[in-house]
Amino acid sequence: MKLLLASVLFLLLVNAIAGQKAEAAAQPRVIILATGGTIAGRAASETAVTGYQAGDLNIASLMEKVPELQEVATVTGETVCAIDSKDMTDDIWLRLARRVNEIFAAGEADGIVITHGTDTMEETAWFLNLTVQSDRPVVLTGAMRPATAISADGPMNLLEAVRTAACPDAAGQGVLIVMNGDINAAREAAKTNTLNTDAFRPPSLGLLGYVNDGVPTFYRASTRRHTTRSEFDVARLDALPYVKILYGHAGDDSLFVEAAVKAGVRGIVYAGPGNGSVHRDAEAALAEAAARGIIVVRATRTGSGAVVPEALPTDGPPFLSAGTLSPTKARILLQLALTRTNRPDEIQEMFRTY
Ligand code: ASP
Repeated sequence: MKLLLASVLFLLLVNAIAGQKAEAAAQPRVIILATGGTIAGRAASETAVTGYQAGDLNIASLMEKVPELQEVATVTGETVCAIDSKDMTDDIWLRLARRVNEIFAAGEADGIVITHGTDTMEETAWFLNLTVQSDRPVVLTGAMRPATAISADGPMNLLEAVRTAACPDAAGQGVLIVMNGDINAAREAAKTNTLNTDAFRPPSLGLLGYVNDGVPTFYRASTRRHTTRSEFDVARLDALPYVKILYGHAGDDSLFVEAAVKAGVRGIVYAGPGNGSVHRDAEAALAEAAARGIIVVRATRTGSGAVVPEALPTDGPPFLSAGTLSPTKARILLQLALTRTNRPDEIQEMFRTY
């Protein structure tokens, strides 16, 4: 009798373990690529929200703080770099884009989360939006408060980012930023506050959705080209074209335009006031740069709205317009555009379609 009971119990145990394994196998697989930032920041005290060391905690410690991650997906982590994102480089972008493409090409994950400093998160997201060749979800997240702070926002952001990366509805939406419960498109997101946890906003075109009580919920989609419909391929690039942003202001002159031309830039984004207007004392130098084949793009320093017309001018200097892209994002699109062509008409068309 005892033997029979023991055998039944043994079989039940084996079945339960097999069931758990099957459940785990059925879970989506999410890889977290860590790059540093405040989400991995360590401060001297629990009340300090500035003056900390960004990127100090490794990915294993971040994951340990959120054991719930494993209930959402089978999550693994790997480190790409451990920097304060103010120090982001083209070289890290190229490595990151290649690693994401490699993971998806090998079928190693259903979604990817990238932990990142918030200072340049929108730039990395936009670069990946143009260079990732998969429609599987890629979600960037970070934190405004260091991991050691009271009410640190990183753990919840990480959980919501993993939920979004594991969500089938996020496929085909382009690269996303999930912060503070908001789902932002890489194209539209901007860090709009220095310290608040609600720092990321889409100043011109709205959010894609929210993580509602743990459920990523999409309300709209971008019509612009991205990821699988993008023509940009960084697989064999070891550098990106040199493009600088110049900031227009009252009392501007030609000093920085001339310096940029002398330094050998291939493109200039002029972040002008209003509708990307150019100070007359900078305009002649920019027109001369354009005549030499340097691509000049007008963007706006206002923070929202489109620079129009989104076409090459028929009169006046041949400056392109950035549409609704911020100066920083216009710079990235121009860098990638210059890997394909030097023709202003073709590059303007890219600004109209991406
Ligand atoms: N300076 C930090 C970074 O960008 C800020 C942050 O992560 O919030 O890495």
